[in-house]
Amino acid sequence: MKTTYSVVAPIYNEIDNLPQLYKRIQHVMGAKREAWELILVDDGSTDGSTEAIRDLAKKDRHVRPVIFARNFGHQIAITAGWDYSRGDAVITIDGDLQDPPEAIPELVRMWKQGYDVVYAVRSEREGESWFKKFTAALFYRVIYRITDVKIPVDSGDFRLMDRKVVNVLKQMRERHRFPRGMSAWVGFRQIGVAYKRSPRYAGVTKYPFRRMLLLALNAITSFSYFPLQVATYFGFFSAGIAILAIPIVVYLRMAGIPQFTGQATTLIAVLFLGGIQLISLGVLGEYIGRLYDEAKGRPLYVVQESPSD
Ligand code: UDP
Ligand code: MG
Repeated sequence: MKTTYSVVAPIYNEIDNLPQLYKRIQHVMGAKREAWELILVDDGSTDGSTEAIRDLAKKDRHVRPVIFARNFGHQIAITAGWDYSRGDAVITIDGDLQDPPEAIPELVRMWKQGYDVVYAVRSEREGESWFKKFTAALFYRVIYRITDVKIPVDSGDFRLMDRKVVNVLKQMRERHRFPRGMSAWVGFRQIGVAYKRSPRYAGVTKYPFRRMLLLALNAITSFSYFPLQVATYFGFFSAGIAILAIPIVVYLRMAGIPQFTGQATTLIAVLFLGGIQLISLGVLGEYIGRLYDEAKGRPLYVVQESPSD
């Protein structure tokens, strides 16, 4: 039978979420009378999620497990799900039930109306710290301003994509990836659907602040040269000040007006410019490091066990 829907969920140590996740997705998709599959990508779990996924696959042929050889990260796990998906529509959903499977029919409805990417926009987020909400809100707004791709504000990875979009994404093999941005980059007809983001069903977040920062960095460097350009702007700015200052200093000296003495001024100027230069070097380094990673051209992930067809 031809697969119409592929639901892709990345799983990293979600043992207490898996039964409920399966149950709710099975309930929603089973009601559809169309073919579907659930691709569970095990991203190097160490809490027994791997065995739980295998068991689910044994019990229900809709479940297709992709088991990584180690932890490769959320974004890469989603990518593997896309790679193995066979459906005409591919739905990416978090494995911790923060994205309610019950919202899938609404995504499907918009797809049937002819939209190629239907992304879910969080109208509310429950059970997350104000710090997470604040940094997330800030992040989406900064990204929106400085990147060339208009990534929808407050949309996560929860979305439905048409087969033709997924086929384009499968050709985009960049290592440092930001799936939400990539699916916006592709184009076609896109639309957002509002949903209420639930608290995590069980377990803890796998995104501590450090990882969130890294994701933000990936998002910015993948879609924008802005940080590199900032160095140029600063360069012009300081050079401009110097050019203005030269005639002033010459004039003060010729007029015999006592001018700046002491080392403080010099020290401040040196430290300021030195700081800017080091920061610019760091920014350059971020881009070069990513360039190096891409140049190595390693596979994005290593699969220990792939689903049989
Ligand atoms: N995840 C993953 N690999 C990782 C980290 C997370 O596959 O290295 C999965 C995780 O199991 C979950 C989803 O990605 O299904 C979202 O992660 P999480 O809920 O921890 O992020 P948050 O919702 O707190 O931003
Ligand atoms: Mg979560």
